[in-house]
Amino acid sequence: MAVSDHVNLEQFMEGLKRRNPGENEFHQAVYEVAVNIFDYIADKEVYHEAQILRRMAEPDRVVSFRVCWEDDRGNVRVQRGWRVQNNNSIGPYKGGLRFHPSVNQSILKFLAFEQTFKNSLTGLPMGGGKGGSNFNPKGKSDNEIMRFCQSFMTELYRHVGEDTDIPAGDIGVGAREIGFLFGQYKRITNRFVGVLTGKGIEFGGSRIRPEATGYGAVYFMQYMLERIGDSVEGKSCLVSGSGNVAQYAIEKINQLGGKVVTASDSGGFVHDPHGIDAERLAYLMDLKNVRRGRLTEYAEHFGCEYVAGERPWKVPADLAFPCATQNEISTAEAETLIHNGLRGVSEGANMPTEQDGIHAFTKARILFAPSKAANAGGVAVSGLEMSQNAERRSWTEDELQESLRSIMKGIHDRCVEHGGGEGDGYNDYVRGANVAAFIKVADAMLAFGVV
Ligand code: NDP
Repeated sequence: MAVSDHVNLEQFMEGLKRRNPGENEFHQAVYEVAVNIFDYIADKEVYHEAQILRRMAEPDRVVSFRVCWEDDRGNVRVQRGWRVQNNNSIGPYKGGLRFHPSVNQSILKFLAFEQTFKNSLTGLPMGGGKGGSNFNPKGKSDNEIMRFCQSFMTELYRHVGEDTDIPAGDIGVGAREIGFLFGQYKRITNRFVGVLTGKGIEFGGSRIRPEATGYGAVYFMQYMLERIGDSVEGKSCLVSGSGNVAQYAIEKINQLGGKVVTASDSGGFVHDPHGIDAERLAYLMDLKNVRRGRLTEYAEHFGCEYVAGERPWKVPADLAFPCATQNEISTAEAETLIHNGLRGVSEGANMPTEQDGIHAFTKARILFAPSKAANAGGVAVSGLEMSQNAERRSWTEDELQESLRSIMKGIHDRCVEHGGGEGDGYNDYVRGANVAAFIKVADAMLAFGVV
């Protein structure tokens, strides 16, 4: 009997914390998976012996580098950049880049770990990675953003490639930043290849990539509701965030007949009982994407309430779509949502609910779609962008819309297969997602031997 047989969940987590001191988000993400996987592999010796979970929680590599750039006044600025390549057992590393002052190694390791599972769930051949910088894009001119992106790529290009590691956007990295990054990659390497996804349509981007994460999170909710004979139509919905994921979640909820009454940014949230309909969403998109303004302006413009420094979770509603950032639903807020009659949560953001909050939702038998399943639509369409780039052609919007729906349905069904919800029973989508994603990556790792 191998020594590893004797490691239980607590010992596993103690070891992880010892090896990764102070990396709380990473501990949290691994724990959320390990709880289910220890249970699942209890009678599956082969995974214990090969130390599969331990290996999955040790990134293949973490690259950290200095990024120097000059601001518009000629001051030299120094930032830190990272790329975490977590696991490439089922395909090249794939995952976004985040530019935000809160970015650190713990956050990127949590995101890269999660990404490995998420990418597995899509059914596409993609491993897991994540990267970014503590650079704050807020308030910077386009030229400053360009200079930063060029400097960042001047180091990153050594570590990425269309068959090695294919980054994309995330918080603070949208179409503008991807354009600057791709331009610099092409300039340095003299190669036009699909090394990034989320590109502009003119230079190899995929249709519906901007919409995919938000749309996918709403489709997932629709599939959960359909399973119990219900739908999004007529439901009041809380959305947090007002960036890429939030905007397209709002659009899809509207298309399916739901009503969105909140949106938020890092300053607070807006409560709009009229509903953020198509016209108001167009205003919001212009405000956030073009004018890069604050939500207070939305509240002033439409004469609705703005609550500074708070999140939307006290507003009573049927469904919640957290689409801003990690740990944005505390356990107390989860309890409030449950108390107010919430029926379902679909996580557009990565790990937006605290661990005990998830437990509260599942205990109350609320439909709960964890981020690694609910927001996988974005990376799935990125995977399709990679295929289009490799084929040097672009697929139609109809083809891509259909692919996104069918991928989200496939993820939903895999979560039901492993979530214990036979028949009409309550399905544990957290367990379902973790186990389904684990099996594929773990079996590939077993095939490779000890590497
Ligand atoms: P954006 O940068 O487009 O938008 C982020 C939104 O969240 C903004 O409204 C921002 O407010 C708000 N926000 C950011 N940080 C905080 C914070 N610390 N507290 C409160 N609000 C905050 O990012 P995305 O929409 O792309 O990403 C949102 C989430 O979705 C992230 O968790 C990301 O990892 C996840 N995700 C994104 C995917 C994608 O395809 N883009 C794919 C899968 C997951 P402000 O305007 O004030 O900055």
